Amino acid sequence: MAIRVGSGHDSHRLAEGRPLILGGITIPHNRGLVGHSDADAVLHAVTDALLGALGLGDLGDAYPDTDPRYLGADSRLFLTETLTKLNQLGWSVVNLDVTIFAQEPKFGPVKAAIRDNLAALLGVPTDCVNVKAKTGEKVGHIGRGEAIATHAVVLIERLPGEWSV
Ligand code: MG
Repeated sequence: MAIRVGSGHDSHRLAEGRPLILGGITIPHNRGLVGHSDADAVLHAVTDALLGALGLGDLGDAYPDTDPRYLGADSRLFLTETLTKLNQLGWSVVNLDVTIFAQEPKFGPVKAAIRDNLAALLGVPTDCVNVKAKTGEKVGHIGRGEAIATHAVVLIERLPGEWSV
């Protein structure tokens, strides 16, 4: 099979005293996401989508949140290491579609920056990445601003050549 699809989902609680980092971008806000790593829910969902497409389990398998090496970790590490593995296995990323579910802050001004950064991290043209944002319509844990959730879908294709896996 020459193409595969993967999906990823993540959510983290919002709290004061933390920076808000999504897609590798620090976004001005009065609260940030809580987690063992930098809690970048966009990069976690994207990495999970890549692992899913490869049939390699999930982010928690690869980078356990009980491992002190990943305390405060920059989640770009998870994405770039997984991308390297993906390329070594003979695959490349075709496109990525990300949705952020957050009541606040307004993502209109930063969606393009997140998109550009994701494209740079994945080494694909900007038009191969899309970032959408939805509010929680002020209901549920998203709408009350208690958490931010993310969803990612990625398509990968076989690189030309002979591959054993
Ligand atoms: Mg996470």
